[in-house]
Amino acid sequence: MTNKELLKIADEFGTPVYVYDVESIRHQYEKLTSSFGKKTRFFYAAKALTNINILKYVKKLGASLDCVSINEVKLGLKAGFAPQNILFTPNCVDLAEIEEAMHHKVHINIDNISILEQFGNKYGSSYPIFVRINPHIFAGGNYKISTGHIDSKFGISIHQLRHIERVMNTTGINVEGLHMHTGSEIKDPEVFLQGLEIMFGLAEHFPNLKYLDMGSGFKVPYQDGEMETDVKELGKKVEKAIHEFAKESGKHFELWFEPGKFLVSKSGYLLVKANVIKQTTATVFVGVNSGFNHLIRPMFYDSYHIIENISNPKGTERIYTVVGNICETDTFAWDRKIHEVREGDILIFRNAGAYGFEMSSNFNSRLKPAEVMFLDGKAHLIRKRDEFEDLLRNQVEVL
Ligand SMILES: *Cc1c(COP(=O)(O)O)cnc(C)c1O
Repeated sequence: MTNKELLKIADEFGTPVYVYDVESIRHQYEKLTSSFGKKTRFFYAAKALTNINILKYVKKLGASLDCVSINEVKLGLKAGFAPQNILFTPNCVDLAEIEEAMHHKVHINIDNISILEQFGNKYGSSYPIFVRINPHIFAGGNYKISTGHIDSKFGISIHQLRHIERVMNTTGINVEGLHMHTGSEIKDPEVFLQGLEIMFGLAEHFPNLKYLDMGSGFKVPYQDGEMETDVKELGKKVEKAIHEFAKESGKHFELWFEPGKFLVSKSGYLLVKANVIKQTTATVFVGVNSGFNHLIRPMFYDSYHIIENISNPKGTERIYTVVGNICETDTFAWDRKIHEVREGDILIFRNAGAYGFEMSSNFNSRLKPAEVMFLDGKAHLIRKRDEFEDLLRNQVEVL
C-alpha cells in the first residue's frame, strides 16, 4: 500500500487503526501453493488474526483452518469453512471442549496422554483423531515462542510413543494424523526435513495414518536484511522426501501445514499518531496514541517492527525512542532512525497483521482500535473502534 492510501485511511477512520492489505495475504498464500505439490494443504492458523472478514477471505483463497479454541472453531464455521477443512489443535483444554468440537465434526488434535485416554475410553475408534507429538527439536526464534523444546508444555513427548501405543491398543482409538509444531520463525528448511524424517519414523506405529501435519514455523522478515523462509526450496525438498518415502514404504500421506504469520503478518499496518515529542537528557521520545494495549509483541517477546513516519517521509532522519501512552513501561523501539517526527504526524508499524489486534486489550481503560480491510483499492471498516460503553459492557454494578 502507498503512504497516500494509508494517510487517507488515518484521516477517514482515525488512529490508532489496524489496516490489512488483503492482496498481500493472497500473494503469500499463492507463494505457498505454488511451491508445494497439489495435495499439500495449508491450514491458516486463525489465532494470528481472526476478524471474520479475514477468515472469509482466506477461505476464498482455498485455505483450510487451524483453530486453537472452540470459539475459533465456531468463528471458522461461521466464516463458511466446512468441518472437514477445520483442525482443532487445543492445548490443556478439558474433554468437554474436545467433545464440543466433535459435535461440530471437525478434525481433532490431542496433545496429552490424559485426554487421549479419556477420549479413547469413551469413544474408542468411532471418531478418528490426530496426535500432537513433541519431537524435542529446538527450532528457531525466541525461546518464549518455541514449542518443541524439552520444557515446552505442547504435545506428547516422542519418548512417550510406547504409552500412546498402549492407549491405542487398549481403547482402539483411531489415529488418522500426526502433528508437530515446533515453533515460530524457523530459518532453516532442514529443521522441517528433520521433523518430517521423525514423522516417517513414527508412521509405522500408526496403521490408519493418513495425514502428516508439520505445523508452522514459516518465518517472515521483520527488519531489513532478514530473510523469509524460502518456501520454494522447502517445497522442493519436502515433496522429494515425501515421494521417496512413498516409494520405499508404499505409504502415501497427505501433508498439511499451518501458516499463521506467513499469511497475514505483512498484510498488516498499525497506524498511530505522534502525540508528544519529549526531549530528555538521554533521548528524544516520540509518545504515540497507542501502547502495548494495542501491539504487545515488542514488549512481550522483543519483536521488531519497522516504524515509519508517513507524514514526513522526506524529513531529516533523527534518532528516536518510540513509546506508548500506557502507564507502565511500553517501549516499542529504542534508537530508531525515523524521518523527523512532529506532533500530529502519522507513524506506521509494519508487519502488524499477525498477533497484533489479536493480543490487544483494554488496559488503562483505553479503547481497542478499529480494523480496516483494504480490498481492490478500497478501504472497508471491518471492526468499529471500541466505545466508552464497551468498557462497562459486562460489568455488573452492585453499589
Ligand atoms: C500458533 C500456531 C501456528 C501458527 O504459527 P505462526 O508462527 O503464526 O505461523 C500453527 N500451528 C499451531 C498449532 C499454532 O499454535
